[in-house]
Amino acid sequence: MPMIKTPEEIKKLHEGGVILSCALRKAMDACVVGASTEAIDVIARQSMEAEGAMPSFLGYRISASNPAFPSTLCISINDEVVHGPAIPSRTIAVGDLVGLDVGCWYRGLTTDMAATVIVGSVMPEKRRLVEDTRESLVCGISAIKAGGWISDIGAAIEDHLKPKKYGIVREMVGHGVGYKVHEEPAIPNYRDPRAPRIQLEEGMVLAIEPMITLGGWRVIVKDDNWTIATRDHSFAAHWEVTIAVTKDGYDLLTPWPDREGI
Ligand code: MG
Repeated sequence: MPMIKTPEEIKKLHEGGVILSCALRKAMDACVVGASTEAIDVIARQSMEAEGAMPSFLGYRISASNPAFPSTLCISINDEVVHGPAIPSRTIAVGDLVGLDVGCWYRGLTTDMAATVIVGSVMPEKRRLVEDTRESLVCGISAIKAGGWISDIGAAIEDHLKPKKYGIVREMVGHGVGYKVHEEPAIPNYRDPRAPRIQLEEGMVLAIEPMITLGGWRVIVKDDNWTIATRDHSFAAHWEVTIAVTKDGYDLLTPWPDREGI
């Protein structure tokens, strides 16, 4: 599977990324006290389908023997890190940190992004966790340029977060994306001496996604066999964008859903 996308493919990915960002923004706006996670999920799905895009997580299987993922969004709340399915009986409560992760297929290619919503007033350390996780993603993508290394991304994220004593989840990492939901290379959000040394090349399309906790980095899989949560029950935050590597930096394919620019 080639890691380099053509300019024509990157143009399609950008069109799909704009549709995806719009769907995510609508889902974020729908994260209000009392909303069911299923209702939020429907809003995201309808938003992308109205633009000719299709959810890329709905029906996704980790392998042929695994069950299909049941929703458009992954909705992961509080100590949940990623991969929580949307379910009708689950509602949003005041003080929740709601991680929304979503991907879409558009013109044969897929993009991937995530954001964490703060619902109502929360303890200052929870708000800082969400803001610092977002900032660490900005640091990670700012380290990208052709000729650099995949490891530059994780180093920048780690350097931003380590002094603040957060946990950086290690079992899940960023990844290539485009022809498939998950492609090579794996992109750790920390310095990993065991990771293969891979150079960044113009045209690589990458999903960068720090998953950060107020406690330790260890995670568990919950009984639904999908949801990944912190082992120590500490709160978690997750932000993700899809970018294309350029000669001098990166091209943001999925615009930030919460504000203009970075
Ligand atoms: Mg991803």
